[in-house]
Amino acid sequence: MYDYLVVGSGLFGAIFAHEATKRGKSVLVIDKRNHIAGNIYTENKDEINIHKYGAHIFHTSNKEVWQYINKFAEFNRYTNSPIARYKNELYNLPFNMNTFHQLWPSEVFTPSDAKRKIDEEKAEAVCNLQGKEPSNLEEQAMCLIGKTIYEKLIKGYTEKQWGRSCKELPAFIIKRLPVRLTYDNNYFNDIYQGIPIGGYTKIIEKMLENIEVRLNCNYFDHKEELDKISKKIIFTGQIDQYYDYRFGRLEYRSLRFETTRLEEQNYQGNAVVNYTEYEVPYTRIIEHKHFEFGTQPKTIITKEYPLDISGSNEAYYPINDEKNQKIYQQYENLAKSETNVIFGGRLAEYKYYDMHQVIERALNLCK
Ligand code: FAD
Repeated sequence: MYDYLVVGSGLFGAIFAHEATKRGKSVLVIDKRNHIAGNIYTENKDEINIHKYGAHIFHTSNKEVWQYINKFAEFNRYTNSPIARYKNELYNLPFNMNTFHQLWPSEVFTPSDAKRKIDEEKAEAVCNLQGKEPSNLEEQAMCLIGKTIYEKLIKGYTEKQWGRSCKELPAFIIKRLPVRLTYDNNYFNDIYQGIPIGGYTKIIEKMLENIEVRLNCNYFDHKEELDKISKKIIFTGQIDQYYDYRFGRLEYRSLRFETTRLEEQNYQGNAVVNYTEYEVPYTRIIEHKHFEFGTQPKTIITKEYPLDISGSNEAYYPINDEKNQKIYQQYENLAKSETNVIFGGRLAEYKYYDMHQVIERALNLCK
């Protein structure tokens, strides 16, 4: 009899399993996939660590979380500074002085030039609403940042990501669009940032050292047997599936990854390039070697295509709109009444968590 059955060997499950084992508990970890590490899984090919489920950049301002994850890996000095490509134009992200000069090369040289230009465009957008509140994402974005940035850097990307026109998307999706009036291309504001040297999978391997793990094991295919051999369950899969969708399915956006090995050393000169025009069907291209400053003779790139979650597509981004939140709340209420099952992680809590948030949640649960 195990003290804990941990369903899912992603970051949440692995931390819980590690901490429980450290406290003398017996733990069995299962995963339906044929590998550990969930969505942070990296696979080494041609000596390049490939982020199999999308680019993962670790960032946090929480010192405890940073110190914790550094026990399992050494991090490099990678700083996320994506490039946006719109037709034949290239822009720095996040929106900063470099971007503003690239957008208005003959008008913007100083922070006050940039502020004036953006304020002018924002005022025009507000004026066009004639006193009404923004009723959709397009109106909201234009009021927050103006027409030029919206049309070149937000519209197409957002429409691809959500599979709908910005006019049909609710305004609440974009609450803030921060602009930086400095020449700073660092995407994150956090104090700590980096990529684990050698990939993320090694972190999970280290966490799960000496812990029994069963791969290719879907909890729902063996529920009766697994429930019998464990006192408590930590469930990190989809909560709606756990309850057999009794209140309906929770919606997600999915992604298709198209990975190609290229016979050249350097394809795009940056780990992440976003394609912001609608006509290009993918949202971004990842060139994995640049996460670790690779100098290998070959390179591997991945194009990310956003998709609906239907058929066998994986659930990636929860759609936390009103309708789905209402459904989730019903599942959450049921979950609270469970005595032997604890739900944790991005699928079980139906929240878009970054890695540092998952670590915080898992450590809090252990405490
Ligand atoms: P998962 O990693 O999803 O783990 C859940 C595990 O449970 C999976 O291995 C799954 O196979 C298993 N499982 C599910 N159901 C069952 C079942 N029935 N039986 C057995 N096993 C089951 N975060 C960042 O901090 N920085 C980033 O740059 C970043 N980029 C991201 C990019 C993308 C495309 C995505 C989707 C996420 C990104 N994240 C990023 C978020 C990060 O991936 C998550 O915070 C983290 O992986 C969540 O860990 P988890 O353990 O909750 O879930």
